[in-house]
Amino acid sequence: MNKPQRPSWQTDECPAWCVTEHREDDLPDDRVHDSVATSLTVTTRDISTPSRTAAVELLLVRFREVDDDEDWLHLMTGEGSGPGLTLSPEGARALGRTLLAVANTGAK
Ligand SMILES: [Zn+2]
Repeated sequence: MNKPQRPSWQTDECPAWCVTEHREDDLPDDRVHDSVATSLTVTTRDISTPSRTAAVELLLVRFREVDDDEDWLHLMTGEGSGPGLTLSPEGARALGRTLLAVANTGAK
């Protein structure tokens, strides 16, 4: 992807997955590499009203603070409400394996 010249505060190249257009006037807290959001719509059940289900959009974004070398994965609902869940790549892989194992236990 072609991007404009890097701002002066950005010392490293963007990772290949970054789609953020970094600007010279980005505030320090906004100096983050972000991936495209991966969207997944799942059926959820409201514990307080078990007969009710709802489709909920989940969004997953990979990010890395500029000048940091650790990537993180942030999982949030499509509405963006709530704190979401920020996982290390290792944590995300462990969660994925655990979800599969539990979901497949006794699967019909
Ligand atoms: Zn970037």
